[in-house]
Amino acid sequence: KRKVVLITGCSSGIGLSLAVGLASDPEKNYKVYATLKTLNKKQRLLKSVTEFHRDTLDILQMDVTDRASIMSARDRVQEGRVDILVCNAGVGLMGPLEVQDSKVMKDVMEVNLFGTLQTLQAFLPDMKSRREGHILVTGSTGGLHGLPFNEVYCASKFAIEGLCESLAVLLQHFNIRVSIIECGPVNTDFMLNLQKTEIGDCALDALDSHTLSLYERFLLHCGTVFQNAAQDTEDIVKVYLDAIRSPEPAFRYFTSGTVPPLVKLKTTQPDGLEYIRAMGELIFPQDHEELQQ
Ligand code: NAD
Repeated sequence: KRKVVLITGCSSGIGLSLAVGLASDPEKNYKVYATLKTLNKKQRLLKSVTEFHRDTLDILQMDVTDRASIMSARDRVQEGRVDILVCNAGVGLMGPLEVQDSKVMKDVMEVNLFGTLQTLQAFLPDMKSRREGHILVTGSTGGLHGLPFNEVYCASKFAIEGLCESLAVLLQHFNIRVSIIECGPVNTDFMLNLQKTEIGDCALDALDSHTLSLYERFLLHCGTVFQNAAQDTEDIVKVYLDAIRSPEPAFRYFTSGTVPPLVKLKTTQPDGLEYIRAMGELIFPQDHEELQQ
């Protein structure tokens, strides 16, 4: 029997690659519902779709912040069930906390946290009654350790960890697996789509100069990290495929293959100070020496 997969956030990036990757399975083992916040953003996805996908991929509108839109997407699934649900939609937010607008902060929580919660609420009852299913969530290393100037984003991704871990404990009684795919930096539209406080933005006028200079350095650091270490979506899709095909999927997957050293520090040094020092040293190397004195 073909597995029915529904993926959120497929207009670009990880969601798009995963949708096309699964729909391109040579055995046609998957029927994929690639969902998008708005259908006018489907051009990029359509470019990857060929005749082969005629019976393996459907495109649906689904805004994860809109309950009615989630329900209507669910009701359009022809098979009447979803075997594999991928909660992938997400947005970023970067900048000094003091200057963030509360509407913008709430929007990030709306998409990343409440969007995921609402999506799960819509699909859980059927999975539970069938006692079958696999829920996969695109997580972030920013959900496992804090990052300066990413307080709201990290808070939303930390919340996802708690949500998934809590659910997983219950759902083992329903033969439903939960997996989080923990990504580091990935080459997608994420950096373009994120809400970022730009240097020169008048919102920064009231900010103290020390924070501003640290923010400038953080942005440079970020650029270098993305240039040197970002993975391609194909690498992420491989990890997703491993998790989806596994008879005993793990709860947590790291797309780099191993637990990143900074994540490890959180468990080996539970008082948390080692992590804070190490991250500070990584992003603001010279200051670190001064702080030690
Ligand atoms: P992306 O910006 O290319 O994709 C995000 C997708 O989410 C887009 O298709 C966007 O339209 C969609 N989306 C946004 N708001 C939505 C809404 N209200 N309803 C439905 N869809 C919505 O970036 P990406 O890197 O592919 O991001 C996918 C996931 O990966 C996100 O959850 C992100 O937090 C996570 N992630 C990304 C990175 C990275 O460096 N790119 C790192 C770690 C985790």
